[in-house]
Amino acid sequence: MKFTSLASSSVGNAYIVNDQKTRILLECGLSHKKLQKLSGFSLSDFHACLVSHEHKDHAKSAVELMSRGLEVFMSHGTAAALDALFASEIEAKEQFRVGTLDIVPFTTFHDAAEPLGFLIRSREDGDLLAFATDTVNLRYRFPGVNILAIEANYDKDILAKSEKLPEKTRYRIANTHMEIDTLCDYLQGLDLSACREIYLLHLSDAMSREHEFMEKVARVVPNGIRIVVCPKEGNKGEETFLL
Ligand SMILES: [Zn+2]
Repeated sequence: MKFTSLASSSVGNAYIVNDQKTRILLECGLSHKKLQKLSGFSLSDFHACLVSHEHKDHAKSAVELMSRGLEVFMSHGTAAALDALFASEIEAKEQFRVGTLDIVPFTTFHDAAEPLGFLIRSREDGDLLAFATDTVNLRYRFPGVNILAIEANYDKDILAKSEKLPEKTRYRIANTHMEIDTLCDYLQGLDLSACREIYLLHLSDAMSREHEFMEKVARVVPNGIRIVVCPKEGNKGEETFLL
């Protein structure tokens, strides 16, 4: 299974999961046009899209994608917040299937109606991927995970020094997004013996440092795991452009 980032920031998020039999979009926080441009694919090349929550940087084109015929999965709360009448509604802990992918949504912790993360198992190659973004922490440990795609939003020391930031904004960040040391503590509690790749998602422009984040994560996970910071925009990963 391959994970590819098309865009990853508070401006817009979109990722591709592909096991060579099934290709899905995770998030659609970009215009339809931009999704096509960045991925090199048209909508008919995707089997479905999964949306974690209703914020625009994750769900911008959800309604449009549905109207163009793509199946878009999201929680009931997210669908209600987006007025997405034709969404395929899913629930935490209720497994569903898209092509060769078995997907179990799980609860995340964010200021959204009913946000979800996704645990995705490929029946094609057996790989297990966990995807969690926009969440202050995580409750699950994903035994046997091969690919982790997880938010690393900000550094609490940089946030503390950002005096110009309104108190409200500071409070919101600290209570809705994943701090780098929180992530490292979480990673230390995981069994990562089967993990090959860790993708760090949704880094804050002003409150993160890419290299420091990579070093911090590298220090707490087993050697040999590839750590990738997903850029604000553009491809990273090995999605092959087979049309
Ligand atoms: Zn959000």
